[in-house]
Amino acid sequence: MSERVLVINSGSSSLKWQLFDGAEVAAKGTVGRIGEPGGDAADHAEALRGVLSSADLSGLAAVGHRVVQGGADFDGPVVVDDKVVEAIERLSPLAPLHNPANLAGIRVARDLLPDVPQVAVFDTAFHRTMPPEAATYAIDTAVAERYGVRRYGFHGTSHAYVSRETARLLGRDPADVNVITLHLGNGASACAVRGGRSVATSMGLSPLQGLVMGTRSGDLDPAVLVHLHRVAGMSVDELDTLLNHRSGLRGLAGDNDMRAIVRGRAAGDAAATLAFDVYCRRITEYVGAYLAVLGRLDAITFTAGVGENTPEVRACALANLETLGIEVDTERNAAGGPVISPDGARVTVLVVPTAEELEIAQQARAVLAS
Ligand code: ADP
Repeated sequence: MSERVLVINSGSSSLKWQLFDGAEVAAKGTVGRIGEPGGDAADHAEALRGVLSSADLSGLAAVGHRVVQGGADFDGPVVVDDKVVEAIERLSPLAPLHNPANLAGIRVARDLLPDVPQVAVFDTAFHRTMPPEAATYAIDTAVAERYGVRRYGFHGTSHAYVSRETARLLGRDPADVNVITLHLGNGASACAVRGGRSVATSMGLSPLQGLVMGTRSGDLDPAVLVHLHRVAGMSVDELDTLLNHRSGLRGLAGDNDMRAIVRGRAAGDAAATLAFDVYCRRITEYVGAYLAVLGRLDAITFTAGVGENTPEVRACALANLETLGIEVDTERNAAGGPVISPDGARVTVLVVPTAEELEIAQQARAVLAS
């Protein structure tokens, strides 16, 4: 089989793509502001036609599509057929911003590359191994079942890739490694991985739950919504905007970029300092919880924009955990890893760059080979 795979991450107003030849990126690009005045393309079809004319896509083994929400239906990558398209569409109410945009990419790729197998790779699939006690919200079962209300978890391709890389860097079989992976990007999530399988993750029904993010709140008392509705008269849409776009680092300190937060904190800015501390404290709490879930912990791995680039966050999130066998070496942390814990520490702390597109390409090839 050809080793060439085109990976497409189709968003509502952008189409990011990477062409892989084996593990190498042969070409990549982003078509931005789709459908907007002055944007790169009028619609997704025009965007993909642009990609097809700018890159040599001969001999493609597959097109791999990132799909955010696979619900309870998908526990791994699948070759796209009409039934899969229908299922992704049916799951759209659970991911209204993402699944329709992902589907737009799938539809035009099927049209324009009809002879190439299309593979859907779901952000949720890796977390389908979570036990019921980790995936179940303690609400009326009938309501939960009727409306698909449960923890799905996201960033699965990243957690899968990074946990496997962690085992490789430790020189051990992934089946024998327990690791907490911390994907800290614009969105952020933690995952407890036991022997290569997700057993707990911080995002839930949607990517809003869990860690503090660039613009999203992460965990809060659900009564906050009821309170703001009753007391402040905020509508459902206003609450949605508040928690998804006016919260997290931006809500606390006016900027969603961790670099600005770290600069502000260094300059003594009180809001930036609080935002940083709340951000790190949440990570610490999840590390403690997942250590207890896993029982034995071999590694903690930081990844994504903030996790890979911000030694201040790594040091603060894991400070004062020596009694749990968790330590960060100051010089190694500043140097950026991969190993940032001292020699002989019970838990190896690592920094591993994520590679979600590569993981999608490899999963697409794997499902076609099976
Ligand atoms: P996404 O979740 O959109 O894929 P990334 O994983 O690229 O995003 O993370 C984006 C975030 O990472 C930015 O908002 C910024 O806060 C942070 N970031 C990126 N580069 C750096 C850096 N060099 N130092 C600190 N933070 C960074």
